[in-house]
Amino acid sequence: MSAITNPAPQTERNPASTERSVPPVIGWRELFDRQRAHHPTVRVTTAAQRIEKLRHFHDALLARRAEVIEAVRADFLRPIAEVDLAESAIVLLELRHTMRHLRRWMRPRRVSTPLSIMGTSSEVRAEPRGVTLILSPWNYPVQLAFLPLVSAIAAGNCAVLKPSEFTPNSSAWMRRFLADLFPPDEIAVAEGDATVATELLKLPFDHIFFTGSPAVGKVIMRAAAEHLASVTLELGGKSPTIVDETANLDEAATKIVWGKFTNAGQTCIAPDYVLVDERVREPLTAALRKRIAESFGDDPARLAASPDFGRVVNARHHQRLRKLVDDAVGGGAILLAGGEGEGSSNYLAPTLVGNIGRESLLLRDEIFGPVLPIVSYHTIEEALAFINAREKPLVLYIFSRSASNVETILHQTSAGGTCINETLLHYFNANLPFGGAGNSGVGRAHGHAGFLSFSNERSVLRRAFPNPLVRFLYPPFGRGMQWLVNLLAKYL
Ligand code: NAD
Repeated sequence: MSAITNPAPQTERNPASTERSVPPVIGWRELFDRQRAHHPTVRVTTAAQRIEKLRHFHDALLARRAEVIEAVRADFLRPIAEVDLAESAIVLLELRHTMRHLRRWMRPRRVSTPLSIMGTSSEVRAEPRGVTLILSPWNYPVQLAFLPLVSAIAAGNCAVLKPSEFTPNSSAWMRRFLADLFPPDEIAVAEGDATVATELLKLPFDHIFFTGSPAVGKVIMRAAAEHLASVTLELGGKSPTIVDETANLDEAATKIVWGKFTNAGQTCIAPDYVLVDERVREPLTAALRKRIAESFGDDPARLAASPDFGRVVNARHHQRLRKLVDDAVGGGAILLAGGEGEGSSNYLAPTLVGNIGRESLLLRDEIFGPVLPIVSYHTIEEALAFINAREKPLVLYIFSRSASNVETILHQTSAGGTCINETLLHYFNANLPFGGAGNSGVGRAHGHAGFLSFSNERSVLRRAFPNPLVRFLYPPFGRGMQWLVNLLAKYL
């Protein structure tokens, strides 16, 4: 263990923290320098040593799931089972997947040798990037901090983790939890707001892994450019859900309601809006209303008291969502379900909105709350044009029983990921690289893809046996060189 302890927050101290002993405050620069000085020890760790660290992480998290639930729910109210699944179970699954495969991921990967450089052998080695910065959002405060951290540790990096200021209880818990497992010159938590992030971004981190909004993603990329740090940007945006005329509507409604209203819609991969074939708009709307009632309650009072429906994170976001709904209704939109809210608890009922003007804010900004616009189309081309006129989404969901419609949609759109006749589940497959396209993100996370994001793939070529032709490459160039160039250019 290092002599220093995990640094205390440098901005305002977190009022929710119950710690009695205040750790000594060290500056971010000093913390960074210590991690950099310590990294040579971390970079040479074997697969067995890294698996041992991940095993400790895994066992501690498994034992402290109740603490996670308590900390996260102290930040904003969410269903207990949902928190346990999203904040602990998903991280535990990722830890086990990583432990199972790390030996193979770390092994140098042989690649074949073209005839033109006969006599050499080549391989790719994943080496750690170095000292890394992880910036995470509030919506799944533990999961979205820990998933990249698992990849960072697996790949042999040091890491400073800066969670969101909107979830201070979760951040303080993560600081205590990680301080029990790692020395701060290997893994440290920096609590605080954007000013702390700004200070950290001035330091020459080797890699920055950011999860958050596209607007802040641009700030991160600009800051990274200063040091030419590599970045992974896991961003958000408006994820469309197409429901065509062939879809099983009850099944689609069940899955859309789950995907949309989990964590009160505050999920980056939540369906942002539904694009439905006009011929099935009414039955789909009825199925969605029925499913909302079955899931959370069949009258407004029961729904507001449901233990299975969460709250909006804070008053600012509650007001923002109210404004989105009011703006749509003011423009002629119709509330098809929900709309009720309560300011003091940041409650907003699961809300369906129809007949929305195309210029409405609801169809422009990422919603990130329990409001689902329903837009109808007459031809699949119209739906595709609607999607392609907007930024590339993080996910595009398709509900259809027509293989040709599915292929047309996949072929003519671009997105970070797609689920067909499902929502959210692609996130649970660690073998699927997770990330966005264009405005919804840069780079990939989860499983091997996450490991590679935190690795530099180093290309190594080795001379295995002599090749007499190579000498023609060296000056002074003679006819042999020209012969060799002709051979390369025309035949090899
Ligand atoms: P955010 O971009 O406001 O904040 C994310 C992090 O960046 C926080 O730690 C915050 O302190 C920091 N930050 C904020 N402003 C900053 C600045 N000017 N300079 C440096 N750092 C700054 O995002 P949020 O509101 O916490 O999260 C919601 C967004 O995140 C949504 O757009 C959502 O879609 C997206 N998201 C994406 C994923 C994904 O995996 N792709 C997951 C969750 C959330």
